[in-house]
Amino acid sequence: MENEYYVCTGCGLLCDDIEVELEDGKVSKVNNACLKGVARLKECNRPAECRIDGAPASLEDAIIEAARILKEADSPVLFGMGNSTSQAQKNAIEVAKRTGAYFDDTSSFCQGPVVEAILENKIRTCTLDEVKDKADVIVYWGADPSNSHPRHLSKYTYFPRGKERQRGWEEDRTAICIDVRKSDTATICGDKFYQIPPQADEELLNALANGLSGKVPKVSFGMGPKKILELANMLKKAEFGVICVGLGLVYSLEEIEPLVRLMDKLNEVSNFHLIPMVGQYNMRGSNHNLHEETGYINRVKFTGNDVEHGAHCSVVELLRARTVDAALIIGSDPMSSLPGSIAKELLDISVITIDPCNTLTSRKAKVSIPAATAGSECGGTAVRMDGVEVEFKAMTETDRMCDAEILERIMGEL
Ligand code: SF4
Repeated sequence: MENEYYVCTGCGLLCDDIEVELEDGKVSKVNNACLKGVARLKECNRPAECRIDGAPASLEDAIIEAARILKEADSPVLFGMGNSTSQAQKNAIEVAKRTGAYFDDTSSFCQGPVVEAILENKIRTCTLDEVKDKADVIVYWGADPSNSHPRHLSKYTYFPRGKERQRGWEEDRTAICIDVRKSDTATICGDKFYQIPPQADEELLNALANGLSGKVPKVSFGMGPKKILELANMLKKAEFGVICVGLGLVYSLEEIEPLVRLMDKLNEVSNFHLIPMVGQYNMRGSNHNLHEETGYINRVKFTGNDVEHGAHCSVVELLRARTVDAALIIGSDPMSSLPGSIAKELLDISVITIDPCNTLTSRKAKVSIPAATAGSECGGTAVRMDGVEVEFKAMTETDRMCDAEILERIMGEL
């Protein structure tokens, strides 16, 4: 009998070679996944039931109450989406349109600018399968995939043999790490680790662009022109290069332009691509779906047929300015992830959560609706970190609804 493979929704890599064993209808053993993936597929501290104001409630009542809150709110916001299927994201966009709500996702304060530049064709990208088959120079910049996406190096970027990289990683590939600290990925890159001070990424991007243009590259920190030119030459000689952009790089840039300039310069003299190291399994799907609908990837407000966009529509600004009076949070835990001074504003508005896991936000929510876990309990589609759409099926059966169905039911009550 042929093996049946499933997809892990533990991170934006969406590994598609997962085997599972079931016992009493539950996943008892997971093969091929990393520990992070096993935790996602097997263990989730799940809420036992729907709750309204902390008291157990039926699913029906929770859905009706969620719809009532959204209908009666003057200024609702929908937020989260990175851990939702593409269908759930599309349904959430419909809910936002019908309720005249703000709509934002977690990319708003992480990889959003990079994905936006890719979708607007400002930056050249490629797929992970192309990296596996062709890449000879791989740069991990502000990224530590050994920990954030544990199978990134082994499945796609550094260690595997590919069609045009048959001799293995030691002979066929050069892995370079640029980071502020010696991470596990930096250790793997050995003497190709370039340590820079915090906030020095822009200086190095500009210096590399200068080095590639034949100018003497200079930076204010302890990296001499010789070392920068040595790095620039490695990039220049690449037959197929890729920069895997992590949050360390994104967070240190005030704007994306220095990265775009370096990519342009690299592609004048070499063949370079960029892939954002997207964390949540379908954050990129949320960007793609909203972009298709509005031309923007995040931070919008729907008003009738109009769409408003800008930094003032980001969930952080909305909470800071106390612009919103209700929030529907889907597959996200902003009370844990946002700065405390911003997150505390959620305590003063009506919050609805749809989440497979029991989180700090779901525990404090006015209405909390547990959903099936995408990947293990419900199927769907998602967009991998490299922009490839991946379809996945459920591993087990559940009596819980998936997030897409819950949103459809809420829509029916609006
Ligand atoms: Fe799952 Fe990511 Fe680990 Fe792959 S690397 S098994 S997608 S958590």
